[in-house]
Amino acid sequence: MSKSEPMGPVRPYDVVVLGAGYAGLIAALRLGARKGGLRVALISARDQFLERVRLQESIVAPVAARIPSIAAFLGGTAVDFICGEVSALDADAQRVRVEIDGCEQELAFAQAVYALGSHIDVENVAGAAAHAYRLEGGEGSRAAAALRARLTETAGDPVRVVVVGGAETGIEAAGEIKTAWPGADVTMISRTPGFKGARVEKAVRAELIRLGVQLINGESVTEVQATKVLTGSGRSVACDICVWAGGLRSASLARDAGLATDGQGRIWVDANLRSISHLHILAVGDAAHPITPTGAPYRRSAFAALVSGAYAADAILAQRADRRLRPFSFSTFGQGIAIGRSGVGFVSYPDDRQILFVLTGGTARRVRNFFVWLVTAVLKVERRFPGFFFWPGRRRVSWREANDAIEKAAETVRA
Ligand SMILES: Cc1cc2nc3c(=O)[nH]c(=O)nc-3n(C[C@H](O)[C@H](O)[C@H](O)COP(=O)(O)OP(=O)(O)OC[C@H]3O[C@@H](n4cnc5c(N)ncnc54)[C@H](O)[C@@H]3O)c2cc1C
Repeated sequence: MSKSEPMGPVRPYDVVVLGAGYAGLIAALRLGARKGGLRVALISARDQFLERVRLQESIVAPVAARIPSIAAFLGGTAVDFICGEVSALDADAQRVRVEIDGCEQELAFAQAVYALGSHIDVENVAGAAAHAYRLEGGEGSRAAAALRARLTETAGDPVRVVVVGGAETGIEAAGEIKTAWPGADVTMISRTPGFKGARVEKAVRAELIRLGVQLINGESVTEVQATKVLTGSGRSVACDICVWAGGLRSASLARDAGLATDGQGRIWVDANLRSISHLHILAVGDAAHPITPTGAPYRRSAFAALVSGAYAADAILAQRADRRLRPFSFSTFGQGIAIGRSGVGFVSYPDDRQILFVLTGGTARRVRNFFVWLVTAVLKVERRFPGFFFWPGRRRVSWREANDAIEKAAETVRA
């Protein structure tokens, strides 16, 4: 932590939750149940809840927040909401520093839930940070709102848009842009075809091609310039607008604090979602990387954020009651990808792999919209009835399997 003195006295909490995305908000709501009697603080950079899964919609028009004020949403609960930027974490001293309107405030905690999520990774490719737009909230010069302004200003011109990345975010961005600006020349560049298996890939491609999106596969973009992108094979693709959707990474705050993290800045966690290096800090959502099996594979998603956030709260409450929870695990239900006004959806029970049928068209889009709505509906019900949310697959991993995985991970570290 920086050496400068913070303003005001250090505020003590039993649990501090860092980040109010899906994972942090559900954890705070559950921990803050009045009957629990815990002093809980939830810190987040903004008061408005950002539904990241709808960011592609905001390329076309501003998206009205379903939870317009987190402070108001938490009214009547025992959670202290602190709207500020977490600027430093001292994991050993159990302190966190928050910048609020230019002033620094320090909070002390017995336990913390680290839920600071992720951001689009533009750090690893030359020129991406300077020249590419990304699906991020806020007013940044390269955020979704800025992309909307740029596309609106060029409407009517035959603008060339290159979307880099062929997974969910890239597909959704390309589909949305081509639907709203049909005159735009939209190209999506992806490294590896085979998104979610052959059937899903085929359905996604058919939807994109129907819209008129051009697909370049098997190419890695190595540099973004103001008017073109360059690929590893030496190809140059001209563009007026580049949208970067080439992967996510987490903030360096955890690594800077000395927590064990992976190459993408996610905190390595054990079967109870505790940091393997600092057991009093739990990590959830996009910021966590479990080293033990989790039933369905743990990938960054709104559902994984909800289940891990709820589990972390349960684990803290259980530990305080001298109980230990079964290892964290879950099953998935399905997935939906928005492609303009249409989409692709499929059942993925229980292991995040497509089974049964693949839905396409407007029906797939409506089903996706329903599940996106459901995520915030879950948060609203959890606010009224903390502990209400439960999920399938909570008994999929035994302690023996978890301990074997921990042993194996330790061997790898020793080797
Ligand atoms: C464009 C896009 C589309 C997506 N579509 C889907 C989808 O269709 N389905 C799906 O399941 N998943 C989707 N995802 C992934 C999904 O949005 C994430 O997995 C999910 O948001 C993770 O939730 P989280 O709570 O861990 O983190 P986040 O939602 O990232 O929340 C982190 C919170 O921490 C706050 N924060 C971060 N740093 C600081 C700091 N230093 N100080 C204070 N506060 C801070 C942020 O403001 C935010 O409130 C999509 C992601 C993107 C980017």
